[in-house]
Amino acid sequence: MRHVVATVGITVAGTLWYAVWAATGIGPAAVGYLALPLGAAVAAAAVLDLLRRAPLTVPARRFWRLMLVAFGCLSAGFGVLAAGGMRDMSTLPSMSTPAAVPAGIGFLAAMWAMARIPLGISSACERWRQWLDRSIAFLGCGTVLFHFGLAPMITAEALWSTQTIVLLGMSFALAVGGITKVSYIRGGPVDRSVLRLIGLTGLVGAGVALLLVLGGDPGTVPAQAIVMPLAAVLGALAVRRQWTHAAARPSRAGTWLPYLAVVGVDVPLVAVIPGVLTWADKLVIVASVLVTGLVAVRQLVAFRENARLLAEKRVTQERLEHEATHDGLTGLANRALFRRRLGEQLERGDTTVLLVDLDDFKTINDSLGHEVGDHLLIAVANVLRAGSGTDGLPVRLGGDEFAVLVTEATTLGETIAQRILDAFEGPLSEHRLLVHASVGIATAPAGTPLDRLLRDADVAMYAAKQRGKANWVRYHDGMARPVADYAQLGGELRRALDAGEFVVHYQPIMALRTGRIVGVEALVRWQHPTRGMIPPGEFIPAAERTGLIVPLGRWVLRETCRQAAQWLAEFGPDALQKFGPNVSARQLHDPDFVADVQAALADSGLPADRLVLELTESAVLRGQQVSRALYQLHGLGVRLALDDFGTGESSLSLLRSFPAAIIKLDKSFVDGIELDPPGQPQADAGQAVARAVMQLALALGLETIAEGIENREQADRLIELGYSLGQGYHLARPMPADGMTRLLAAQQQLATPA
Ligand code: C2E
Ligand code: CA
Ligand code: CA
Repeated sequence: MRHVVATVGITVAGTLWYAVWAATGIGPAAVGYLALPLGAAVAAAAVLDLLRRAPLTVPARRFWRLMLVAFGCLSAGFGVLAAGGMRDMSTLPSMSTPAAVPAGIGFLAAMWAMARIPLGISSACERWRQWLDRSIAFLGCGTVLFHFGLAPMITAEALWSTQTIVLLGMSFALAVGGITKVSYIRGGPVDRSVLRLIGLTGLVGAGVALLLVLGGDPGTVPAQAIVMPLAAVLGALAVRRQWTHAAARPSRAGTWLPYLAVVGVDVPLVAVIPGVLTWADKLVIVASVLVTGLVAVRQLVAFRENARLLAEKRVTQERLEHEATHDGLTGLANRALFRRRLGEQLERGDTTVLLVDLDDFKTINDSLGHEVGDHLLIAVANVLRAGSGTDGLPVRLGGDEFAVLVTEATTLGETIAQRILDAFEGPLSEHRLLVHASVGIATAPAGTPLDRLLRDADVAMYAAKQRGKANWVRYHDGMARPVADYAQLGGELRRALDAGEFVVHYQPIMALRTGRIVGVEALVRWQHPTRGMIPPGEFIPAAERTGLIVPLGRWVLRETCRQAAQWLAEFGPDALQKFGPNVSARQLHDPDFVADVQAALADSGLPADRLVLELTESAVLRGQQVSRALYQLHGLGVRLALDDFGTGESSLSLLRSFPAAIIKLDKSFVDGIELDPPGQPQADAGQAVARAVMQLALALGLETIAEGIENREQADRLIELGYSLGQGYHLARPMPADGMTRLLAAQQQLATPA
């Protein structure tokens, strides 16, 4: 601030001195010439201070260093002039070479400083455009200054020294350069107003020129004393601006400048028309033509750039649109687009939807990793694309769920489904994986709610899955909604248990020779309010996964014990020997399991030795805690049966370490056992296992029960092999408790002699 005050003070002093001098003529005129060198020195000091103390960026520092040189040189140059004038008044006002050279360097330094300020332009196109703009502006403004400032001096009768004219020309160039530059600075290391102030010093030059032209030689004194120190004031103000330079402010980068330039050149053009054309006037005309031409080029560039920007925008828009409506991994349409198209199609007419679900995709993803899974999904997408062809829109709904939208009600859906399933026959993706898909097809007429059609297709898809996978099924009315996904099922099971929707059915275990019922296996069923009777295969896996098997199994256990005790009370303590509920591995892990069994026995009054817990091999092979529980149960007198015997892996070693009492020969070894050997390999193998299991049981003193006997021949063959107990549809199907009660009653009647 003090620098600004000092330069203003110098200017004021110069003005006062001039007033006194002009009135009285006292003292040498050279005193007035001291104003500029003094002011410039103050400005230089201000810059020095700025460079020393202000935090500047590299480009700003460079700019101000050059400005320091500029002010320093101006001070020196005009100082030399003033000093010369003090010694010899006759040398004024023309500049000697020793004075003009430093002054010229000063202008050059300022121009160079201006030129090097970065504009922050990135693209070549933008650079080219700005170059054009600035040329236009430079030519336009330059022509104005030339015509009204420089040209009159050059062509004037009074002869100005070349040095003066060159220096003035430089100051004009500085002004024009500053203006054209400042229009393109979008805030940056050097403040815009700094440039404006420095550029304005060029107008100081114009003022000087005006004074010289109007006043002739005598005009130089006021020019030196009053006008020129203003340049120093501007310099000091510029320094001040830089101190307070804040963050970049965006500006409408000089779009108006070229047009202003056109108007600018037109003024001198119009001015020269009436007179006789001098060479300088001709220059003005040439400049005007040039500016006009450049503006035309500029318009063309702008036009082309606009076209390019529009095209770019369109491409971006299309890309965004595509991303929003397509799946990133497979490139298929996504759920959003699917629903939109489906909605539109349903308004128009018949619509068919195929839901495609990969069988076992989760297993592949979990065991082989996501990358393999991703490749597989891409391959599946390609299958769908090829399968749909031009007949349908393939979609990835998410995860391993896909769909195809077909805009017809014909058998086209079936055709596409079959094409897709056929493609799944061979290995897929670079990892040559074999996967299968289940496809559900549903068609709806115009006006059907979208979600209704999707639900139908979903029902059909689950039906396809249940038919043994790699299948397609078309939805038809009355198709029962199957037990769908496990997550939903978990909650449903809980509700069902609370609502008492589960029932236990009993399958008789019979003496093969006599047909007498010796026991029952307890098998749970879900009596669903709308879906009817649901077999355990459809909900036990989900119950195991969600942990709900523990309370469910506890309920089955208590219900079985209760029913067993009731039958014993009704038909006598020897009516049945075995009551066998199934127990899952998860239940054995439950720390309360043994206590639960004890409580069920105590509450029902069922003797422990009538309870036979059916366990699978894999369930009992579960470490110490399970083993301890099994021995505790054994200690209670409860019997343990090994279910599905022979299908596990370590049956033999297992039998030694496990207190089993009963082996249940799995149905798979009974299937085909009746077919006459030799010659029937399947029967051969089945018989061999059945025989070996029997020998093992005899050796270890275990009871056996053969499962899944479906015909008389099988029963006979099993008897031959030494089996005495069996179970199967041939003997009796699982039945509700009251059916069992009737059967027991009938048996008792038969046994009781009339
Ligand atoms: P499992 O323990 O092997 O039960 C025997 C299954 O074979 C029963 O099917 C039964 O109905 C069926 N079956 C009986 N005789 C024949 C026959 O001659 N031919 C054929 N093809 N099948 C026959 P279900 O009732 O559908 O039970 C399936 C499986 O569900 C059971 O296999 C058992 O592992 C499980 N399960 C059933 N109830 C329960 C339960 O309360 N708790 C637990 N944890 N699992 C249960
Ligand atoms: Ca069983
Ligand atoms: Ca079994």
